[in-house]
Amino acid sequence: MNSFRSYFVILLGLCLSCSVVIQALGQSQTGPSPQNTSTASKRNSSSKKATAQRQRGNAEISKIVSEINPRSIEATIRKLVSFGTRNTLSDQNDPNRGIGAARDWLYGEFQKIAAQSGGRMTVEKQTFEQPKAARVPQPTMLTNIVATLKGTQAESVNRVYVVSGHYDSMCGSPTDAKCDAPGANDDASGTAAVLEMARAIASHKFDATIIFMTVPGEEQGLLGATHFAEEAKKSNMDIQGMFTNDIIGSSLGGNGVHDPHTVRIFSEGVPSNETQQEATTRRSVGGENDSQSRQLARFIKEIGERYVPWMKVWMIYRRDRYGRGGDHQPFLERGYAAVRFTEPNENYQHQHQNVRLENGIQYGDLPQFDDFKYIANVARVNAASLAVLALAPARPKNVTFPTSLSNDTPINWDANKEPDFAGYEIVWRDTTEATWTHSRAVGNVQSYTMKGMSKDNYFFGVRAVDKKGNRSPVTYPKPQPRRTGTGATPATSP
Ligand SMILES: [Zn+2]
Repeated sequence: MNSFRSYFVILLGLCLSCSVVIQALGQSQTGPSPQNTSTASKRNSSSKKATAQRQRGNAEISKIVSEINPRSIEATIRKLVSFGTRNTLSDQNDPNRGIGAARDWLYGEFQKIAAQSGGRMTVEKQTFEQPKAARVPQPTMLTNIVATLKGTQAESVNRVYVVSGHYDSMCGSPTDAKCDAPGANDDASGTAAVLEMARAIASHKFDATIIFMTVPGEEQGLLGATHFAEEAKKSNMDIQGMFTNDIIGSSLGGNGVHDPHTVRIFSEGVPSNETQQEATTRRSVGGENDSQSRQLARFIKEIGERYVPWMKVWMIYRRDRYGRGGDHQPFLERGYAAVRFTEPNENYQHQHQNVRLENGIQYGDLPQFDDFKYIANVARVNAASLAVLALAPARPKNVTFPTSLSNDTPINWDANKEPDFAGYEIVWRDTTEATWTHSRAVGNVQSYTMKGMSKDNYFFGVRAVDKKGNRSPVTYPKPQPRRTGTGATPATSP
């Protein structure tokens, strides 16, 4: 523990300067403001207070970040590797080798954490029979381990955030259930991060609900995650964000680049489940870069870099790596916002390989290639983001623009209902900017007009803020359905 603490203190010291820079970058700037000066000065002083609060951050979240321990992550990964293989088709009943042993061990660990949660966390084995499929030669039982930390606010308890890693592994062949498949990086790293986040988070109270999940069947075609997402959709579960952590184990790439301070976040721009009508509207008014998943990625960048300032969150504007996939996809396909966390440079000699020494090169996904401190830092970025999501109000709902022609931009939205809700912020950016560059606190109102700023020239969004300064992800407005007889102009007017 002592060496972990001193590592943490050294990192904090080393990164003091980068933290200052990052905080400066993260500050809201005041944009064009041709409004009445007394309101503007009031707004500026409340905005200064909010900025100061944001810079200080929330001590509880810093505590959660500091409680994530790389040695505990290392112990989990070594334990998972000790099961020899975790191929989804491997033995379900052997207590020492195969996916069944891994499943039962993980279930036991989550139960130990739940026992310390004051009754707020429950652990479930979600078991289902997977029929024959491309990589499943015969019907096979799969078990998701699902640990649910229930929110404590009646208005928010049904709002859910899911963090996941896959506990299955593979060697060169996805259907070889006998070969050794240590899967230390793919994906014991993500599984261990989820378990460690549960340990650090479960003793704290949140408004909304957080689900910590480890799933099998990823290498067989995202089967465990697909089952969970489908069941969630059937029961109308209000998942407002899903993170998959997959291959977050190594800071050293096959390209020789050592980068222990960057994590990639993949987010899609155009929603996977977009309807034809939504696609037509988007082509007309823009928004290729403003799906709810992308707002989630921007949120993680802002929060992750604030609470873990020695880490850079590298947003990648695509659904996943080129031609590859992950457990966030079944969520995206069902309309849930979801992102993928992955190390910055992969090493393909250690992924989906039989363990072997060939021409002096060690192939295989072995623990010696993991960087446990790096995994802990990725888990910290996840944990801080999850904690703020579950403390903050829900993102604003039903955010719309009228389609009328004007150089001002009126924005409307529905009221939040949380008892600790404080007000809204309008954010905006130039259309070629990657992240929100400006924000303005507008109080507890359901509409606000950005005077002198045309919706043609900027992207706008709205977020909700609670009394402690916790901010929701941003909601990107949709065009208001056109009313007839009011002079409103269709979005496609030339
Ligand atoms: Zn994987």
